[in-house]
Amino acid sequence: MVSRVIPVDPFDLVIFGGTGDLARRKILPSLFRRFVAGQIPDEALIIGAARSDLDQAGYRSFVAEALTEFMPEPQRPAEEVTRFLAHLDYVQLDATGDQGWAKMKELVRDDRVQAFYFSVAPSLFGAIAERLHRFGIARPDARIVVEKPFGHDLESARALNAALASHFAEGQIYRIDHYLGKETVQNLMAVRFANILFEPLWSARYIDHVEITVAETVGVGGRGAYYDQSGAMRDMVQNHMMQLVCLIAMEAPYKFDPDAVRDEKLKVIHALQPVGMDDIVRGQYRAGADTLSYAEDVGNPASTTESYIAMKVEIANWRWKGTPFYLRTGKRLRARTSEIAIVFKEVPHSIFHDAIGWHENVLAIRLQPNEGMTLSVMIKEPGPGGMRLIEVPLDMSFAEALGAEGADIPDAYERLIMDVIRGNQTLFMRGDEVEAAWAWTDPIIQGWEEQGDRPRLYDAGSSGPEDSLMLMHRDKRRWREISE
Ligand code: NAP
Repeated sequence: MVSRVIPVDPFDLVIFGGTGDLARRKILPSLFRRFVAGQIPDEALIIGAARSDLDQAGYRSFVAEALTEFMPEPQRPAEEVTRFLAHLDYVQLDATGDQGWAKMKELVRDDRVQAFYFSVAPSLFGAIAERLHRFGIARPDARIVVEKPFGHDLESARALNAALASHFAEGQIYRIDHYLGKETVQNLMAVRFANILFEPLWSARYIDHVEITVAETVGVGGRGAYYDQSGAMRDMVQNHMMQLVCLIAMEAPYKFDPDAVRDEKLKVIHALQPVGMDDIVRGQYRAGADTLSYAEDVGNPASTTESYIAMKVEIANWRWKGTPFYLRTGKRLRARTSEIAIVFKEVPHSIFHDAIGWHENVLAIRLQPNEGMTLSVMIKEPGPGGMRLIEVPLDMSFAEALGAEGADIPDAYERLIMDVIRGNQTLFMRGDEVEAAWAWTDPIIQGWEEQGDRPRLYDAGSSGPEDSLMLMHRDKRRWREISE
């Protein structure tokens, strides 16, 4: 299969926070990969901006080091790195000061796509937006990219939206949720809306329940201070898992157009029911044989923040009434895996009276590792011995199915950054979507804060707190194994 690289228009991209962790680990390596793929036009300029005392040459060596650190050697031939570095420049500035902006005005050109990536703390978004405007740097059609977390609650999300809206129209603002850039996540839409097969079955009539699992083996690592203020609900559920719920549950948009898609997602968020305390289990990991406990990791023995959450979510609309969505996510779990499982109902009547081994059909969509889909179907076990049914997978690993090209599935950031340059907002969250997500999340968090809820402890390397099993057991269901 021949890889198709669709050219983008010449652009100037400014990365505020160009010396930060995200820029080093994700943004710059992604741009480099797009460069190697031939997608970065010759005229493109990538400008890092931060307070660090660097000049153009200093920033180029900084980026060269980042590429060495975060990309495997075979993927970064020396001559390509040198050619890529020639596209880079640097402006030293403080987002809250007035120095440096005049130089940026000189560098950023008017006759091309302008994109400004705010890879800095959200508290700086307003200051940067205001200066891009005041110093006459951003054209009226310039694009800005903002990172998660987009707010801590509804009030702070509204304040951020208002700060950006003072200087940029909604059509210029690209709020990143990198889950939406994942190939499999977009495939959810392709599978649903480009095949006749699934959509007729895609409702409470045929689907028993939906399970979404995002499990990590790592602890909070160096992000302890941030994470302890956030927890799994704010860090994973309010944004990434909510987006997955939307893509699974939404109606078909009238076309694949940014606002048509986002209108349908928003309707799903509005239909999410409040979640009672009985339908949530929060957890915190214990110390393992050679790992610290959550409380030790974040340096806060009294922390009541959850590193694990499991919840049952209901969507009140015609399509989904009666089909619960079970979500769970956590750190220091048994395996690193992200999976959506669409569990279908049993056949209405089994003709195989004494058949042995009945299971439901499950469409499992793996986000990581090994992106792909499996549909489990029942067949007869070969050979004599009666009608024994066995479950076999119809398996499609994207890497296998797409051959050499699939082995090199682009990172979510590669796709999302190129979508910004193309001016396509479909895979970015709209302001009202983010606010609606917080409006649903806030009362849940307030509920456990008011009741003084304390997370249950769970063993490092386990599947989470025992109580989370009950969420499913009491509905006569059980979680799928967390395995790679
Ligand atoms: P970081 O490593 O702390 O980097 C922050 C960047 O901002 C640095 O380049 C810093 O450079 C610059 N900066 C700080 N204060 C500044 C100021 N007053 N004026 C100009 N530049 C300033 O943070 P990060 O991890 O890269 O995260 C950046 C954003 O992405 C945050 O909103 C974060 O929540 C989000 N995010 C990060 C990740 C991740 O994996 N890292 C994932 C998802 C979202 P100087 O010190 O040189 O000024």
